Amino acid sequence: MGKLIVISGPSGAGKGTVVQALLELYKTNNSKVHLSISATSRIPRVGEVDGVNYYFISESEFLEKIKEGAFLEYNQYGTGKYYGTLKSHVFEYLDKDYDVILEIDINGYKQVISNYPDAVGIFIAPPSLEVLEQRLRDRGTETEENIKKRLETAKSEMENKEIYPHIIINEDGKVLDAAVEVYNIIKDK
Ligand code: 5GP
Repeated sequence: MGKLIVISGPSGAGKGTVVQALLELYKTNNSKVHLSISATSRIPRVGEVDGVNYYFISESEFLEKIKEGAFLEYNQYGTGKYYGTLKSHVFEYLDKDYDVILEIDINGYKQVISNYPDAVGIFIAPPSLEVLEQRLRDRGTETEENIKKRLETAKSEMENKEIYPHIIINEDGKVLDAAVEVYNIIKDK
């Protein structure tokens, strides 16, 4: 049986880059890992492929699956669209001894832990909210309003980070160090 790993952290904390470096570490060590593919009721964007970026399903199918208890966790966002992690998808890999990585928010983590208490929760934090703000501004892709919104969300996520047994600070330019820390936590379990 593989291990179920939940990785959360505010947007701008560098979660995605740490996860990519983590996948590389698994590869280097010939260790089995799978980055979970979520299901969503939103329509695919140009270039997105069903079963690669997401499992794209209709809203009625999504609601049916909620009723069946098919999700390990799910959420409906402001857009009205649903996103969730299918139990069948995760267990297909855990049963084959793959560690499965979920990149989800704190709300999703709470649901995962109540359904599967053996899951390992890891929070990737920026060195400070000031650094996070700078990173969001440096991206140059966000509007002022968006930056404010993301900072608000980040602030409340940072205030709740203690529910994660592991908190990793992703220092500037130290992505590999953060990924190695995450890898060692997982392998120690
Ligand atoms: P997007 O539509 O840009 O791909 O994703 C919108 C939001 O859905 C992002 O904040 C993303 O983290 C969230 N999301 C994607 N997959 C899942 C999932 O499986 N569960 C939950 N709870 N949120 C997800």
